[in-house]
Amino acid sequence: MIEEILKKAEESHELTKEEIVSLLEGAKSKKQRKRRQGDKKTRCVEEQSENYASTLLCIYASDNLSAFQPFTLSPSSHLSLLTAHCSLFISADKIRQKHVGDEVHLRGLIEFSNYCKQNCLYCGLRRDNKQLKRYRLSENEIIALAKNASELNYKTVVLQSGEDPYYTADKMKYIISEIKKFDLAVTLSIGEKTFEEYQAYRKAGADRYLIRIETTDKNLYKKLDPGMDWENRLKCLEDLRKLDYEVGTGCLVGLPGQTLESLADDILFFKKINADMIGVGPFIPHKNTPLKDTQGGTFEMALKVMAITRLLLPDINIPATTAMETLNPNGRLIALQSGANVVMPNVTQGDARKLYEIYPGKICVNDTPDKCRGCIEAKIKSINRTISKDYGFKADL
Ligand code: SF4
Repeated sequence: MIEEILKKAEESHELTKEEIVSLLEGAKSKKQRKRRQGDKKTRCVEEQSENYASTLLCIYASDNLSAFQPFTLSPSSHLSLLTAHCSLFISADKIRQKHVGDEVHLRGLIEFSNYCKQNCLYCGLRRDNKQLKRYRLSENEIIALAKNASELNYKTVVLQSGEDPYYTADKMKYIISEIKKFDLAVTLSIGEKTFEEYQAYRKAGADRYLIRIETTDKNLYKKLDPGMDWENRLKCLEDLRKLDYEVGTGCLVGLPGQTLESLADDILFFKKINADMIGVGPFIPHKNTPLKDTQGGTFEMALKVMAITRLLLPDINIPATTAMETLNPNGRLIALQSGANVVMPNVTQGDARKLYEIYPGKICVNDTPDKCRGCIEAKIKSINRTISKDYGFKADL
């Protein structure tokens, strides 16, 4: 069943919602799925398998397929689930290589303000988190970080912040136009703005814009994003497309109340809007938010959503997200071998690296941009992949 679905996805890059749910479940048949729902023992085996898969995925990442294959051939039911997981990742890796090649595109991430006027329940930057020490970088500090990124051979910087009205359109225009002088592609990730603001940034030279839809379940969105409007978020994506940005979106995996069906809808939504980039991250509960006692997402489920996204959108940019590495020490390498082709090392300096705490346990907060660059280069080379020397626009992949 899984093999048939994967074959179809590899050939046509189309899947039904039910097929996506089957891949997310790793189930082999409707009958098995039904049994699994009611059978405590089977559920327990599954939970063990998830942990086991996690361990073996580390082996997969470091030694690649040869180390992994003997396990997948085991006839036991315990391992058949694992086989299903791994077939998906192997399939996504194959499609990644065929359509976007072996190059990994690095984007230098500048987190320039942790102020946010919004109050999303899952986010450590939410305005009601009074425990967080807030910071804003000046225009010239942001430009200096971008210059340093260019000197470290990055070809793209991502300017990211909470929704902070301090940075008016004029301020952003100045920052963008100055950064463009360093021959860098500029990606913005600064939230919901008006059409006119998006237009002003674009005219100043911004190339890409990232705005995650977070979830396509409108009821869930309403609960988790008080005061925000899902339809407006969709309009933002449409406005960005009209303005000829490269458009990135994505979702959080493991939100309380989120279902596999809802995740399947997210993936189909990415396909429908023909996104240029998709970022998928596990939800990691933050102690200073209302969701502090919830379970959060798993590395495996986020990886599966990412891998299926690669199958359906073969030629887009997909980052190995930092949050994945928070949950698994080899998270980014595993993601790069399961469909991803982008990494976004942090090029912010000093305390700001720690204070941009959307979720807890962020990696590399005590490092420097130089160290991060060297570290990620070595990791990428260790899996026989190369680092791109160009801007990594989707049209050029
Ligand atoms: S998710 Fe974004 S908009 Fe929501 S509180 Fe966090 S930074 Fe602000």
